[in-house]
Formats: sequence, structure tokens, C-alpha cells
Amino acid sequence: MTHSLVLPRLIRTGSGSLAEIGKLLACCGVSRPLIVTDPTMVSLGYVGRLTAALAEAGLPCGLFSETEPEPTETSVVAAEAILRAGLDGQAFDGLVALGGGSAIDTAKALAVLGPHGGRMRDYKVPRLVDEPGMPVIAIPTTAGTGSEATRVTVITDPENDEKMLCMGLAFMPVAAILDPDLTLSLPSRVTADTGIDALTHAIEAYVSRKASPFSDQQALAAMRLIAPNLRRAFHDGQDRVAREALLVGACFGGIAFSNASVALVHGMSRPIGAFFHVPHGLSNAMLLPAVTAWSIPAAPGRYADCARAMGLVGEGASDELANDALLEELQGLNAELGVPTPTGFGINPARWQQLRPLMAEQALASGSPGNNPRIPTADEIIALYDEVWG
Ligand code: NAD
Repeated sequence: MTHSLVLPRLIRTGSGSLAEIGKLLACCGVSRPLIVTDPTMVSLGYVGRLTAALAEAGLPCGLFSETEPEPTETSVVAAEAILRAGLDGQAFDGLVALGGGSAIDTAKALAVLGPHGGRMRDYKVPRLVDEPGMPVIAIPTTAGTGSEATRVTVITDPENDEKMLCMGLAFMPVAAILDPDLTLSLPSRVTADTGIDALTHAIEAYVSRKASPFSDQQALAAMRLIAPNLRRAFHDGQDRVAREALLVGACFGGIAFSNASVALVHGMSRPIGAFFHVPHGLSNAMLLPAVTAWSIPAAPGRYADCARAMGLVGEGASDELANDALLEELQGLNAELGVPTPTGFGINPARWQQLRPLMAEQALASGSPGNNPRIPTADEIIALYDEVWG
């Protein structure tokens, strides 16, 4: 089996690295960027910091600050109009995404719609979008999606509520800045949801049928960083050591899954997010313990390695002991981080019941369940949705 590895060309990390945006853009050949961000980044003053750094480097820029959480194509189209308008009669030559996965994914969608046109549904899997897109420089402010280092974007089709998975080289940012200072303001709920998302990326990449020695190392490194620091950052948002570890761990998790694929948790999670507007990390968290328990019999050694990397058991522990510890930890983490059940989140039971077959169909169509160590049928996915309902 061969593996093709894709990474950003440049990553700058560390406290204060946002200020180096000018140098980074020069390395990428970008001189007229459009900033893609959301209103929270404006009110937190992060956009001001970014535009000040650009001004200092003598770079003019445009601004689209209306990206929405879990972006739909509608908000992408609004951004596309700003991109096409250009700046003082000249075209933008790059996109600087500042925010969580939603802002970064919006910029990635623009990177393809800008030069190639069409609708986002033209680019969803199984199509691979490997043609060159506009350069994206990603500055994540959540420690979760790893989108700054993935060849993936997720955009919801407003006509049928499908969370479309779009993949290909065109969606890989050319560069990223990992500045942990920007994550200190994350509310505890978002810290928890995005942190569990990152942990899920690492676990799913490690157990994926497409895992490689390269993605394995990224996934294990991600688990080593995320597992001991997620509770710390959740309980004390100003814990800089934990914040930095989570941001770097989330990036490793992104690199891991982008090169090895996610699996059943993500496949089942996207329809929950699209139909019931559950934040992505939270729907992953609702599913992670049950899907892990269901999948362990097909890859007990791989899941046991996850428990060891997370520091739940010693290196010498048996697979059985390690897997028991892993399930206990995933349940315990959900309890401590206040992850609700679907009922607790307020999802309507009749609608959940009615949509399960369609959700299972969409999960399978995304291709992610096919990477799981234990590959489910549609009926087995429905049974897992029932189990998670509780
Ligand atoms: P998000 O970007 O939707 O942000 C969640 C909320 O937190 C928003 O209201 C945002 O304004 C706020 N926020 C972000 N950073 C903040 C900060 N530093 N301080 C205070 N508030 C802040 O959340 P996310 O989980 O990062 O991204 C979710 C999206 O990413 C989903 O659409 C999901 O499908 C997608 N996703 C993409 C990939 C990928 O590889 N492209 C991978 C996983 C998930």
C-alpha cells in the first residue's frame, strides 16, 4: 500500500506568532489578502491585531467578517461576492483565515470557488479537488479541527442540510500560524467540544484502515498532548501551558486524519450536526464512547495503543486492560466536560427517530465509515444512533 502525504509548507508557532504574519505572507507570495473571519474575532480585538500587523508590513487587505459557525453555502456565497469585488480595482491574491474551523473552512471553500466557480456541491466527495486553488494562510483560534493542516473543508448544503465533505490538495492551507494567545479567550464549552474533536481525530486516524507510519506518529503525538491537557484548559482557560499543548496537539491531529482519514464517529457525527445544529465537536463527543466500544473488537491492539499514548495505563499493560481504561476515560471525560446526551441537548425524539435511516445513509455516503476498523451496515449505524440516544 502506498501513502501520499500532504502538509502546509510553513507553520509558525508560539506566543505572539500572529505578529509575524507579514513575513509569512511574503514567503507565500501574497501581497493583497482577504481576511476571512467571524464577528467574535472582531469584538475580541484579534482582527485589529491582524490588520495592524499587516499595515506594519505595508500590506493592504480586505475583510469579510461574517462567517457563520458550521458554515452553510449561503454564507460562503456572501464571502465570494467580497472576494470577486477585489480591493481598489485589483484582485485579492490570497486568503487569511482567522478563527475556528468554521472561518478556516469558509476560506478554503473560497480558495476553490474564487478561481474555479460553481457550487460547493460540485466539489464534494467522492470528487477529489486537486487542481490549484488560492493560497490560504490559516490562523486557528480553537484547538480542535486541525483545519489549518488538513486537505478538507466541510460546508453544509442549505437545500438538504447535508454537511458536505470536500477533499483535495486545493483545500490544504499553504501556511499556518499557531499562536496560543488567541485561544486564551475560548469559553470552557468551546474548549471542551473542540478538544474532544481533536482527540477524536487522533484516535480515528490511528485506528483508520488508511493509517500509515507517518500518520501514526502524528496521531500518537496528538493524544499525548491532548489527553493530559484538556481537563486543565477546561477548568482554567488561562493555563497557557495546557492551551499551547492543545493547539499543537490539535494541529498534529489534523495532520494525522488528513493523511489517514477519519472513520465512523465523524461519519455519524456530520448528519447530527447538520440536522440538529449540534456543534461538530459536541456531536463527536456524544458518539465517541459508544462507537469506540463497538469498534474495539476489530482492532484491540490499536485502541490499546491509544490508551497507552493517553497515559491511561503503563506501556506494559495488556490490551484488554488498556481498552477497559480507554472506555472508562472517554465516558469520564464526557461526564466531567458536561457533554449532554442528544436528549439533554434538546433534540426532538420523534425527529431523531424519523431521520436515523437518512442519517445512516449520509454517513455511509461520506465514505468515513469505510475507514473504520469494523465497517458497519446501515442497520448497525441506526442501532448505534439508538444506543447513543440512551
Ligand atoms: P467554530 O469555528 O464554529 O467556533 C465555535 C465558536 O467559538 C464560534 O462562535 C467562534 O466565534 C467562537 N470562537 C472561536 N475561537 C474563539 C476564541 N479564541 N475565543 C472566543 N471564542 C472563539 O468551531 P470549530 O469547532 O473550530 O469549527 C467547527 C467547524 O469545523 C465545523 O463546521 C466542522 O464541521 C469543521 N471541521 C473541519 C475540519 C477540517 O479539516 N476542515 C475538521 C473538523 C471539523
